Amino acid sequence: MRVDKNTELEQIAREIDQLTHSPLYQYRIDNNYSAVIGEGSLDAEIMCIGEAPGKKEAETGKPFCGKSGTILDELLTSISLDRKAVYVTNIVKDRPPENRDPTQSEIDLYGPFLDRQIDLIQPKVIATLGRFSMEYVLRRFGFEGVIGEIGAMHGVPVSLPVNYGTVVVVPLYHPAASIYNQKLKHVLFDDIQKLLSIRD
Ligand code: URA
Repeated sequence: MRVDKNTELEQIAREIDQLTHSPLYQYRIDNNYSAVIGEGSLDAEIMCIGEAPGKKEAETGKPFCGKSGTILDELLTSISLDRKAVYVTNIVKDRPPENRDPTQSEIDLYGPFLDRQIDLIQPKVIATLGRFSMEYVLRRFGFEGVIGEIGAMHGVPVSLPVNYGTVVVVPLYHPAASIYNQKLKHVLFDDIQKLLSIRD
């Protein structure tokens, strides 16, 4: 029998909380940060997956609640999507120091928790935010062969057969990339439209 989704998510959260062998664990403790598990509906049809928490996220335990989160909220609002109806998370669940990129070994360590969240939620659509997330998700489903530059792949949905049916991956630029780049911001607003046409 499948255990209740909330129970399973609580188990995932407990394991992450006690991930003492993570290279990011001590940094979390020293700074009184929290691991950031994810937020939103466990029955979401759409999952948004970023890279790793920033400072504000680690302080609050909530994903995408800083500057990038404001842009993500604007993007979701632009297609009339209630953030509570989607599930928002990251590959890496602890903040890397100085917001550096996550290392491959951090991605390898935290990735399986994301895999379990995907299995639990079974989204129809995954919006990957940034190249790390795009590469992780495509590889995770066995489609590393289609991975290209984010500059070529953004906004182009990729439909993949998975063990629970089909998932459509929509690669998006990371919202942070658009903070100082208005052109990219416009691209993000165009690309996010793809989510709606697919889900409906
Ligand atoms: N950037 C991310 O990739 N994730 C967050 O939660 C915040 C900023």
